[in-house]
Amino acid sequence: MHRIELKSLLADRAVGTPSGRVVRALSERGALSATQIAHITGLAKSTVSMTLSELRKSGIVVEGPSLERGASVGRPATVLTLNPQAGTCVGVLIGLGQARVIVADVSHAIIADTVTELDPDFSPEQAAEETRRMIKQTYAEHSMPLCGLLGVGVAVAGPVNPIDGRMQRASVVPTWAGIDIRTVFGPVLQRPILVDNESNCAALAEMMWGAAIGYEDFVLFKIDMGVGGAIVSGGRVLTGIAGSAGEFGHMTVDPDGPLCRCGNRGCLELYASFKTPLQHASKRFDRPMTMDDVIVLAKEGDVGCRRLIEDTATAAGRGLGMIGTILNPGLIVIGGRMALAGDLLMTPLAASFEKHTLVKRSDVSGPARTELTIGKFTENDSCMGAVGLVLRHHGRLA
Ligand SMILES: [Zn+2]
Repeated sequence: MHRIELKSLLADRAVGTPSGRVVRALSERGALSATQIAHITGLAKSTVSMTLSELRKSGIVVEGPSLERGASVGRPATVLTLNPQAGTCVGVLIGLGQARVIVADVSHAIIADTVTELDPDFSPEQAAEETRRMIKQTYAEHSMPLCGLLGVGVAVAGPVNPIDGRMQRASVVPTWAGIDIRTVFGPVLQRPILVDNESNCAALAEMMWGAAIGYEDFVLFKIDMGVGGAIVSGGRVLTGIAGSAGEFGHMTVDPDGPLCRCGNRGCLELYASFKTPLQHASKRFDRPMTMDDVIVLAKEGDVGCRRLIEDTATAAGRGLGMIGTILNPGLIVIGGRMALAGDLLMTPLAASFEKHTLVKRSDVSGPARTELTIGKFTENDSCMGAVGLVLRHHGRLA
């Protein structure tokens, strides 16, 4: 009963009603006080109060744990969330030979996070089938009714055309080019499917729960086995006309450089990802090395591993300098597994950024400086963001 009501309240047609606006605000933000709801929805406090009373009576909204109010005195504000029993959503990351599934409820609590291996050249149909199996198994393990599943967000490795929903040719899984994930996953999962590029999803996760909470404008820059990114403006992740906005890894930094997997030459990714350094490390240690291996050794003081991280950071900082010059963002969130190197990465990265960007720290006062910070979700940012796709956009593609 609640599920049906919640679904209809999250639908686009309900956006004009006070209850539709309150429910959508809670779906997007998780826990909010009545005052915050009034501020976000633009509704009068009396209308919010009346609407909340009705929603609580029908079991759609419940009281959550009180917000900490720091040193302030007085009664803590009552915090409200959507009823966790009212619905769940799933985020899926389809990566290279791997699928990850995160299940959350509508109060934004994470219920499960599972990973499974796939054949290296798996098809979209296989991925959809495997996702269905993982969802079914997870819901059974947690004794949750599958009928409560409101929608599935899918993060994919490559640009997604925002107009027709098809993956672009620059995808890391070349055979997926031209595929509309929604038409493959929809019939198998029988739920609304929301799709976006993995870096865009990562930015959404950082904005909703991570290092960019409270920021409407920021840049995400991912350093991993590739280089990716996202631009957030006015609280929206920019897609660009064909879905490739924020693909920082494919800016040409050397027109005569080596051929990139995208078909161009000398892309930033060739110098600023950890792919080539990892090959050097494997050669040096005469065994296949992982990014974690190099980071651990660097933290233990291995000079060669430190140098590989430093050189990658310096190259990434040059690209970041261009981004700083073009966008002049207030915040740059560094994501990807390289961020696990902490200061070993961030110190040379910040120095290189400072050297190559137009406005220097000494040019402006504190609030006008670009801050560089490590993201909160270096391990599962994209999949968390796929959950966010459902919570923030539910209904649009239903
Ligand atoms: Zn490229």
